[in-house]
Amino acid sequence: MSPTANTTYTAFTGWVDPPADIRPPLRENLTCSVAVLGGGLAGLATALRLAEYGLDVVLLEAEFCGHGSGSRNAGQLASAPGGDIQLLNLLYRKRMPAILRLTENAAGHVEDLIDRLGIDCDYEAVGNVFAAVSRGQLRRTRRITKILRRAGAHVEQGSARELGIPHGFLGGMREIRGGIMNPGKLLRGLRRAVLASTVRVFEQSRVVDIVRGADGVTIETREGLVRAQRVVLATNAYAGEWDITPKRLSSPMWVTEVETEPIAPERLAALGWSSRSGLITQHNIMENYRLTARNTIVFGVRRIERASDYPLPERTPDPAVVADLAAGFARRFPTLADVAIDRAWGGWIGITSTWLPVASSLGADVYYSLACNGHGLAQATYIGSLIADRIATGATPEDLRAIWVDEPGFGRAVPAIMGRTGLRAAWAVDRFNDMINGSKRNARKGFAAAPRGSMTRA
Ligand SMILES: Cc1cc2nc3c(=O)[nH]c(=O)nc-3n(C[C@H](O)[C@H](O)[C@H](O)COP(=O)(O)OP(=O)(O)OC[C@H]3O[C@@H](n4cnc5c(N)ncnc54)[C@H](O)[C@@H]3O)c2cc1C
Repeated sequence: MSPTANTTYTAFTGWVDPPADIRPPLRENLTCSVAVLGGGLAGLATALRLAEYGLDVVLLEAEFCGHGSGSRNAGQLASAPGGDIQLLNLLYRKRMPAILRLTENAAGHVEDLIDRLGIDCDYEAVGNVFAAVSRGQLRRTRRITKILRRAGAHVEQGSARELGIPHGFLGGMREIRGGIMNPGKLLRGLRRAVLASTVRVFEQSRVVDIVRGADGVTIETREGLVRAQRVVLATNAYAGEWDITPKRLSSPMWVTEVETEPIAPERLAALGWSSRSGLITQHNIMENYRLTARNTIVFGVRRIERASDYPLPERTPDPAVVADLAAGFARRFPTLADVAIDRAWGGWIGITSTWLPVASSLGADVYYSLACNGHGLAQATYIGSLIADRIATGATPEDLRAIWVDEPGFGRAVPAIMGRTGLRAAWAVDRFNDMINGSKRNARKGFAAAPRGSMTRA
């Protein structure tokens, strides 16, 4: 039977159920000091920090806090930047130490938050590995290790055995800081903390318009209005739905994750995955794999889909993408090829052409924190809290300066190469390389396994 025959497709996430206590919508006109739009990682972290400064905060969330990618991601808390690090180094060589300090501090910030708020999210501080499936990918991880070390990052290069990653991988580079978690539980914990704070939270309150005026910003939902001195736009991929958002700030992409059925502990132990580090391959479009606390493997990406237009639709994954992910899993973990895929989900993320997140403001009243290029679990949370620091103190924290731009009127959306045809081509090149590498490996195995003199056999 196909491993995807009984897969459940969900329009939310496989990690947790939606909250049972969703807050009522805004049905009045309010004033506040700061309005935070979007109750994801960025929005919750910003609101919480602003409340800690004693500011009067209103948070508006379209569905319920944690409805977006925050609860849907793979739960790999990364400490390196997202995207193509070699390209990042080419564009921002001088700034790399500051960027690395930001991304490593971001992972540390989330670890501290989990501790401080006592959030049970199955966090394991085991790092994440840039795992190579071919010699070419291994060489690439060595180049990346050099770049990151030069920038002061905490990374280590090693073989699969040294890194304690599954036998099917050749080795790679571990980001020592960070780890893996259940992100749905993290969001549930952050939501609880914000609900318990002084922040006035309105869920089921989709923001439909934002207008700047002489005496502040007016934010309109379907049934109410908020007048705020300042506003923080923290809706990530969805921000392009508003007229106020500069065009071409980032491009929304759909990413899919799936989870296997529970796997017998002895079968998992036989993989050689002793470090439990999360894995990210070095394809054009990465594959991610990670163990969970419920003895399953969550994996995904491999194909990403660009949105055709706003508004971004509520959707479930494409069955063809899920079948392709299952095929990739069988290839990387041949001993688990019979394991069924229990569930599949996905979410919208924001991608920029520079691979840097967007943190900026329009004047002194509209702030942005968006588009962490698939690395927002650490970065969106940290950047959100740094923006709160800037609003509350008037000074830009040093880590925020690494990515801050004065006016977000620049073209950061990804170019056409990341359009549907370009993404399809990138996926096809990855599969072609997989095929070539598979043949080379089989040839090497056949040669090694052949008894002496057998090359002359008929
Ligand atoms: C499948 C998948 C796997 C991923 N894996 C990883 C990973 O392993 N590690 C990692 O670091 N990152 C990963 N990411 C990326 C990470 O999840 C995002 O970068 C992060 O969630 C961004 O946080 P955010 O708060 O900016 O946005 P979100 O978490 O998406 O939150 C945005 C919120 O805004 C709300 N909203 C939208 N429109 C409106 C509106 N008009 N009015 C009010 N509210 C609105 C939404 O409902 C949502 O709650 C992954 C993402 C996906 C989808």
